[in-house]
Amino acid sequence: MDEVFKTSIDYLKGVGTSRAEILKKELGIFTFEDLLRYYPFKYIDRTRFYKIRDINPELPHVQVIARLKHKEIVGEKHTRRLIAIVQDDTASMELAWFQGVKWIEKTLIPGRAYIIFGKPGTFNGKAQMAHPEIEPYSPEALKRQGNLTLQPAYNSTERLKQFSLDTKGIQKLTATLLKGYSKHITETLPQYIINKFGLMGRKMAFQCIHFPEDANMLYEAQRRLKFDELFLIQLKLLKNKLLRNQKFKGFVFEKVGHYFNTFYQEKLPFDLTNAQKRVLKEIRTDTQRGVQMNRLLQGDVGSGKTVVALMNVLLAIDNGFQACIMAPTEILATQHYHSIKSLVGDDFLDVELLTGSTRAKARKVLHEKLENGSLQLLIGTHALLEDKVQFKNLGLVVIDEQHRFGVEQRAKLWKKNILPPHVLVMTATPIPRTLAMTLYGDLDVSVINELPAGRKPIETIHYYENQRLPMFGFMKREIAKGRQVYVVYPLIKESEKLDLKNLEDGVEIMSREFPLPQYRISIVHGKLSAADKEEEMQRFVKGETHIMVATTVIEVGVNVPNASVMIIENAERFGLSQLHQLRGRVGRGAEQSYCILMSSHKLSREGRIRLDTMVSTNDGFKISEIDLELRGPGDIEGTQQSGVMDLKIANLATDQQLLMQVRELVESIFEKDPQLTHPENLPIHQLLQVKNAGLSWDKIS
Ligand code: ADP
Ligand code: MG
Repeated sequence: MDEVFKTSIDYLKGVGTSRAEILKKELGIFTFEDLLRYYPFKYIDRTRFYKIRDINPELPHVQVIARLKHKEIVGEKHTRRLIAIVQDDTASMELAWFQGVKWIEKTLIPGRAYIIFGKPGTFNGKAQMAHPEIEPYSPEALKRQGNLTLQPAYNSTERLKQFSLDTKGIQKLTATLLKGYSKHITETLPQYIINKFGLMGRKMAFQCIHFPEDANMLYEAQRRLKFDELFLIQLKLLKNKLLRNQKFKGFVFEKVGHYFNTFYQEKLPFDLTNAQKRVLKEIRTDTQRGVQMNRLLQGDVGSGKTVVALMNVLLAIDNGFQACIMAPTEILATQHYHSIKSLVGDDFLDVELLTGSTRAKARKVLHEKLENGSLQLLIGTHALLEDKVQFKNLGLVVIDEQHRFGVEQRAKLWKKNILPPHVLVMTATPIPRTLAMTLYGDLDVSVINELPAGRKPIETIHYYENQRLPMFGFMKREIAKGRQVYVVYPLIKESEKLDLKNLEDGVEIMSREFPLPQYRISIVHGKLSAADKEEEMQRFVKGETHIMVATTVIEVGVNVPNASVMIIENAERFGLSQLHQLRGRVGRGAEQSYCILMSSHKLSREGRIRLDTMVSTNDGFKISEIDLELRGPGDIEGTQQSGVMDLKIANLATDQQLLMQVRELVESIFEKDPQLTHPENLPIHQLLQVKNAGLSWDKIS
C-alpha cells in the first residue's frame, strides 16, 4: 500500500479535528488505510419487495409497498406511540413509532400507498414493524430505490451519530477518500496468482467493497480482499516455520531406552489405540531429525493425550534430557502430577510439582534438583515460566490446554535451554481446522481421532427446570449402582456473587435431597483455598463422596473414571466448548455415562442451538465447527492474542475453502522458491517486508 495511506485521518477532506478524534476513539480509524479497510458490515438489497404475507419476523429487513388503512396515537406519556395499519393484496401489518410521534402522524395520509422499509418483528404475537423508513409511493421513488441496489451499511455508534457519522456520513468520507486517492492503491499480488485464481484487481476491489455496482462485483471484491488477508497470514506463518526449521537445530532423541521400554512393557495398563500409536510415531520422527519439534496435538476429551505426552517425556529422559509439563490451572497440574505418578509408580521417575502454592522451602530444593539435573520431570502451572526456574538440560516442553496460555508464554519456555526444547502443545478441545490452521499454522498437527476401545458414547439429555424430580431419581439410581455424580454451576466473573449464591442454594437443595449419612457431598469452588480445594477433590477422587458440587473450576482435565453422571445447571449459560469439556469429565470408565443439561424454559435461539447440538452429537470437532459459526473466532479463547482478530473480512467459519486454497498456494510457493528470489515472486517478497501490514504478527511465535 502506498505511503499516502498512512496519512492521519485528520487530513482527509471533511474530517477535521473533532471528527478525527471521534473516529479514532470509537472505531480505531487513525489513518486513511484504516478507513479504507473499514468495510460495510452488510448490504441492504433495496431492489426486492416482499408481500406482507411472506414476511418472516426473522428477516433482517424487508421492503413492502402497501396502502395506509388507519393511523392512531395511543397510550399516555412514555407509552405514547403512533400505530398505523397498512395493507397490500395479501395481508395487513402494524407499524409503530415511539418517537417523533406527532410529526410523523401528520405526514401519513390514509388511503395512500407507501414504500415501507425496516426490520420486521412481532409485538403481542402480531407482526409489527417499529420505526420503519416510510416514503410515499411514486414511480420516481420506486426508481430511486432501484438505483440503490446494494446499499452498504457501516457500524456506527451513538457518539458517531452526534457527529453525523452514521452510515451515510461514513460513506461520504469513504467516497472522498476513494475519489482522491484510489490511484495510489497498488497491486500487491503477482500477476500469475491473480490469473490463476481469477482475482479482481486490488484497486477495483476497494472501490467495489464500498460502492458495489451489483451483487456479483461485490462478491468478487469480497473474495479478493479475503484472499489478501488469508494470504498474508499464511505467508507469515509458513515463513516463520521455514525460518525456524533453518535456524533452530533440535535435540536428537536417538534412543528408545530403559524408561520408555519399561513403561511400555511393564506399566502401561492398556493397549494404545491406533491413533495414539500413529501420533507417537509422528513425534518420534520429529524428535530424531535434528530440528526443533513444534507440534500441536489435537484430540477430543478423553482420547488419551496425557499418556502420549508421558511417553514422549520418557523418550526425552531416555536421551538424558529433562522435561516439563505445563497446565493452565493448579487443579489440572496437580491432577497430571497424580495420574502420572500412578501410571509410572513410585521410584521410577523423579517427578515434582510446582504451582503458585508450592512452599518456599520445597521450591528451593526443587530448584536445586532442577539445576543439578536430578529432577527428570517437572509438572506445574505458569509458575514454571518464572525466571528462577532453571533447568540443567530441558529437552521437551509439553503444554496442556494450550489455548489458555498466551503465545508469548509459549515462547518463554523456549528460552529455558541454549537450544530450544521440543514443544508439544495439546489443546483442551478440538478446534476447527481453519482456526487451527490460522492460530497454529506454524505448527505441525497430529490428531487423535479415536477413543479408547470399550467406551460407550455419553448419553446427553436436556431437562427443563421443572423436571428436577426425575433428575434426582436418576442420580439416586446411579449412586446406588456405585457411581459418582458431578453437579456443575456456571461461574461468570461479572456476577461472581450471584453465581456463588446459586451454588450455595444448589448445595442446600442437594444436601436436603441427599442427606448424610447415606450420601456425602464434595463442594469445590473458586473461593476455597488451594489446599481445601485439593482436599475436597481428593475425597471425590478416592470415592469417599458421591456427589461433587462445583463451579467450572473442574472444567479442564479432571479425571475420575467412576464418575458417570454430569449434571450441568443453567446449561444455557455455558458456551459450547465449555459444555463439551464438562461432559468430557464423564464417560472415562467402562460404564454407560450420562450428561444432563438443566435449563430454564426461556432459551435464546443460540442457547437452543447449543443445547440441541450437545444432545445430538459427541463429536468434539463437529461441535467446535458449530461453536465457531455461532460465535465467530473473536470469542473463542486464545484468538485474542493472535492475528485472527485482525481479519476484517475473511471469516474462518465460512471461508474454509478459500483458506485451504490459499494455504496450498503458499506451501507450493515456499516449496519452489523458499527464499522468494524468483522475479515473479518479488511482490510477495515485498509483502513480507511491510512491517505489520495491518496485522499484529510479532506476537505469534
Ligand atoms: P485427554 O485426551 O482428555 O487428556 P486423558 O489423557 O485424560 O484424556 O485420558 C482419559 C482416560 O483414558 C484416562 O483415564 C486414561 O488413562 C485413559 N486412556 C488413555 N488411553 C487409553 C487407551 N488406549 N485405552 C484405555 N484407556 C486409555
Ligand atoms: Mg487432558
